[in-house]
Amino acid sequence: MVSLGSRTLTPGQAWRMEKTRLQELLDALRRQGYTVIGPRIRDGAIIYDEIQRLTDLPIGWTDEQEKGYYRLKRREDETFFGFAVGPHSWKQFLHPPIFSLGQARRNGQGFEWTPSTDPPPRYAFLGVRACELHAIAILDRVFMGGPYVDPVYRARREAIFLIAVQCTVAGGTCFCASMGTGPKAPPGADLVLTELPDVFIVEIGTERGAALLAEIPCTPATEADRSVVEARLEETARSMGRQLDATDLPALLYRNLEHPRWEEVAQRCLTCGNCTMVCPTCFCFTVEDVSDLAGAQAERVRRWDSCFTTAFTYTAGRPIRQSAKARYRQWLTHKLASWWDQFGTSGCVGCGRCITWCPVGIDLTEEVHAIRQTDSALTSERR
Ligand code: SF4
Ligand code: SF4
Repeated sequence: MVSLGSRTLTPGQAWRMEKTRLQELLDALRRQGYTVIGPRIRDGAIIYDEIQRLTDLPIGWTDEQEKGYYRLKRREDETFFGFAVGPHSWKQFLHPPIFSLGQARRNGQGFEWTPSTDPPPRYAFLGVRACELHAIAILDRVFMGGPYVDPVYRARREAIFLIAVQCTVAGGTCFCASMGTGPKAPPGADLVLTELPDVFIVEIGTERGAALLAEIPCTPATEADRSVVEARLEETARSMGRQLDATDLPALLYRNLEHPRWEEVAQRCLTCGNCTMVCPTCFCFTVEDVSDLAGAQAERVRRWDSCFTTAFTYTAGRPIRQSAKARYRQWLTHKLASWWDQFGTSGCVGCGRCITWCPVGIDLTEEVHAIRQTDSALTSERR
């Protein structure tokens, strides 16, 4: 609870904030030492990068997304967050694509190892969508949920401030409603914004969020405001570009490991790994040692890897998954089936990125649908 003048702010409350006051929120975060990361336009897409001013946001822009297709388009209004997720996810800030773990320097006959000790950046994420909050919760389980905690991830994760934005627009490839991961933001964010035509409705998620919002003039939200928010979320859920029947998915995929559809999709899949790079939950990485030419110094680097590369499963003289069929099947069944066995959750949050950014337009919702339609259990029943 934070009291300031006549106002007392606590988690669970909702407040009305004029849209231009979002700049004051950004300024307050910067005064607290945060680097604010949010959506902005670069190279024809909405990506995540540092935000200084409101004008950095893609105000008045939206996106058209379909399988293998992404275009920006002007909106007819000046909505701040009137677009769906782009090719970036927050994964890159929590689990960097390339990270130096340390350096080894030759020291007489041996080497002296110096681990990287750079302090983690203090990021405030602005504009985290419901599916992305779920994706961060999944990464938390992967990197911090078991006995072996990843110190790089934990240090970055503990330093972030989260401002969610609930979606009032669904993208053409979104299917979070089918996965139970949106568009309503789950708990976990410090503040949750919902954009209405004239104001933001700001829900307070944590004490930190209450303390930040106390710095910004705003008035209590009414029951009518809350009803409008709920109605907007229901409308967004109804307008999802995709659906996925998630009933009993692990069992469906496990009993169809030899389904002919895997061969069909492999005819189209380039095994480029784009789907894994854009996915907010794919976490695989490799570790490489890079030495200088004189052999005096080496650096150990951790970098994102993908189950679509042959080197990824290179074991005892050869890759385990040599065919595109084996690699696509591994990816899809891990996301939707064995992720449950490993982490107690789905590995997919229905963000649609892998569909939009697949260069040949492979759509996992279509692939699952095709397998379900010709499920080996059903076809053997019919025989
Ligand atoms: S499914 Fe698409 S994005 Fe993924 S590896 Fe195959 S071609 Fe690339
Ligand atoms: S598998 Fe595709 S739809 Fe699911 S979370 Fe990853 S990128 Fe998003």
